[in-house]
Amino acid sequence: MANNQTGIEVLTMTNVFQEGLQRLGLSGELEAAFLRYRQELLEWNTRFNLTAIKDPEEVMTKHFLDSLSLLAIYPQDEATTLLDIGTGPGFPGLPLKMARPRWRVTLVEATNKKVTFLRHMVDVLELEHVEVIHGRAEELGQKAAYRSAFDLVTARAVAALPALLEYCAPYCRVGGAIILPKKGELQDEMAQGKRAAAQVGAVLEADTVVDLPGINDGRRLLTWRQQKRCPEQYPRSGAAMAKRPLG
Ligand code: SAM
Repeated sequence: MANNQTGIEVLTMTNVFQEGLQRLGLSGELEAAFLRYRQELLEWNTRFNLTAIKDPEEVMTKHFLDSLSLLAIYPQDEATTLLDIGTGPGFPGLPLKMARPRWRVTLVEATNKKVTFLRHMVDVLELEHVEVIHGRAEELGQKAAYRSAFDLVTARAVAALPALLEYCAPYCRVGGAIILPKKGELQDEMAQGKRAAAQVGAVLEADTVVDLPGINDGRRLLTWRQQKRCPEQYPRSGAAMAKRPLG
């Protein structure tokens, strides 16, 4: 805690991030690497428009802690294969890799400038076992090597639930989890999402409110369990998905 001019204790942003790390059972020593990530992100952002969040304090909470929030419901430290679809400048996949060095992480992103940034960050942070793929989820998902290959699949702020489930399920192994961060009113989207899940072999297992310092906008984590292999026809082409969404 630090004192403001009135002598009342206030929580500094560093403390908010530290408190978040602590709540997730993570070491405070991780903060240095996250500060480096933030520095690179904001520097590159002036040239490449990587993120709409420009406030340094919000980067710590709305990008980093929000990404790490998945660990509250998926705390496994043992070797895990994670796929992050539409990762943008790395969220949530890169913070998760930083917190879980033993995980093997694949980041898929359609925009070249973001891929260039991601490869730069992997070098700067000296991360091993991170694959950065420049491509579209619906194309890569038809490749045999990636089908049913991941323990955990995620995608944040990429599409509505029916499309997200069609993107994610082909990659998820039977028994694996798809965790989708969401916020806002979801009633209709959830109903469609549950129907879409049934079509791709998954089922909703949990709907968890994110409870971390600095995050108070109703964020939730939707956990879907892959019950059987996703049928081969999914994911369809982007055009077919747009024309005839699942659900
Ligand atoms: N996940 C990041 C986050 O939460 O900050 C980025 C979110 S950004 C709003 C959506 C990202 O998904 C963009 O970088 C876009 O290029 C990427 N994207 C959208 N559709 C995609 C697809 N079908 N395959 C791969 N990437 C996709």
